[in-house]
Amino acid sequence: MQWFEPYPLYISIMAFFIFFLSIVLLKKPNNLVRILLSVSLILSSLFMISTALELYIDDFNAMQWLRNIQQIALFLCPVFLFGFAREIVEPNVEKNLKYMIYLGVPAVIGVILVFTNPIHHWMRSDVTIHTVWGLTEISITPTPLGIIFIAYLLFLTLLTVFTFIRNMHDLPPHLRNSHLLSSVAILLPLVSLCVLPFLSLKIPGQVALSFSLMSVLLIFILKRYDFNSIWPVSRNKILESLDEGIILFGPKYNLLEINQAGYKLLNKWMPYLHKNLIIGQTVDQLFTDKRILEGVYHHSSTSFEWKVELDDEDIYLQVNIVPIGYYGRDIMLVVLTNITEKKLIENRLYTLAHYDSLTNICNRHSFIEKYNTMLENKKFPISFLLMDIDHFKQFNDQYGHIVGDQVLKEFAISLTDFFMPTKYCSIVGRIGGEEFGVLLRKDAEHAGEQANLFQQKLTEHSIFINGEQQEKITVSIGLTTTDEPISFEKMYKEADKALYQAKRAGRDRVEMINA
Ligand code: GH3
Ligand code: MG
Ligand code: MG
Repeated sequence: MQWFEPYPLYISIMAFFIFFLSIVLLKKPNNLVRILLSVSLILSSLFMISTALELYIDDFNAMQWLRNIQQIALFLCPVFLFGFAREIVEPNVEKNLKYMIYLGVPAVIGVILVFTNPIHHWMRSDVTIHTVWGLTEISITPTPLGIIFIAYLLFLTLLTVFTFIRNMHDLPPHLRNSHLLSSVAILLPLVSLCVLPFLSLKIPGQVALSFSLMSVLLIFILKRYDFNSIWPVSRNKILESLDEGIILFGPKYNLLEINQAGYKLLNKWMPYLHKNLIIGQTVDQLFTDKRILEGVYHHSSTSFEWKVELDDEDIYLQVNIVPIGYYGRDIMLVVLTNITEKKLIENRLYTLAHYDSLTNICNRHSFIEKYNTMLENKKFPISFLLMDIDHFKQFNDQYGHIVGDQVLKEFAISLTDFFMPTKYCSIVGRIGGEEFGVLLRKDAEHAGEQANLFQQKLTEHSIFINGEQQEKITVSIGLTTTDEPISFEKMYKEADKALYQAKRAGRDRVEMINA
């Protein structure tokens, strides 16, 4: 036999080529998927090279040995390919290696029985040499036990294909092709082993040929789609690294999946909930908020903010509920985003924009806003009291600005206490400097009475300065009332005129001008 005989030469070259590529596969970044594929390809190239040698030589004993070596690859390759498929579909190194060990035991026993066959003859009933295309190869007639082992290898291959096909539903379309192609590739040796013998076609070393095709296809898929490193090995990692809590509820409203962030959030109001016990809990066991329960029960797509009141803190969550179709049944996806920090900043900004930072009552801007809301509600009359503290400048000059600020704070407290916004729906605000405003839903007479009473209260109240000295303050008030919607500017102008009159008339009094 010539060494350059084209057919065995082709198989040898393919064997070296695939062996080289399988070594390349082992370079970094390596993961179990790449390692398992690489081992499968090394086994596959071992099968090919021993087949090529079997075709090259004529010595019966040596051929038998080479055939035995082929069996190592034939029995073990399906086990590694199964592990490869499992690790792609559901990455879990420990679990998948365990599966491989269980499924690998019969395969290893098969290899041992093949090698010890000359002693017991349990696997092969007859071994002969035949010639195809002028090439000699061994022909084996298996015993029933041998057939059982072959059936076991077929079972492993089908299990691998089933693993890929079952996972195809969960994949984005562009990755489905990779699963489909992988399945076809893995089926090739099985087809050559089971289907070709029934056809009249005789090809020497046909299984090696199918192994070479399978290997090339698998390498092509790996390089073309690179799904091993990106999907779905990283799918789990992406889910786990998200800051959002991701929770899936099944058709019976029981929890199917939760990521680490989701578990951490649930733990805030259910601190004793153990991770192992969370799967299977129903939505009402985990949430009390009505909107979440309704969203999940009614399969509706909703989004809202949820304030969770805890013992030591309040947290704000953005809740998004989305039904996702899955085999015709709805799975409910609940996404929880912790927006507490954002919400606190938002609240702080709202407070800064609407409240006076010194006195904590409405600032001019929100005072006007509230006046406009009163107009929109069309409930008249509306009375406006514009107040200005008398001789406040002297106060500042005598005691300094800091004490002046303290007086303004105390004045705001007296104002709020007297007009009690929560009880009388009145509105108090700091218009600017030492000028304050009160809006009342009262007519001029009642508003005037209230203003006088407030002035009286103020004279009864002494302000402590530096903890000892007592001072009293008085305030002049301009009052204006309207029965129709007029602008705040107009209201203010009239009230200011009245205030001016009050100042001119000697201060500490109320003057009124009808708007
Ligand atoms: P009157 O209103 O009775 O005519 O006399 P007044 O002394 O109160 O007069 P004016 O309105 O001219 O003076 C207001 C003073 O209020 C001037 C300013 O120094 C002081 N003032 C304004 N805003 C603040 C503040 O936020 N803190 C302090 N401490 N003083 C302020
Ligand atoms: Mg003033
Ligand atoms: Mg003043």
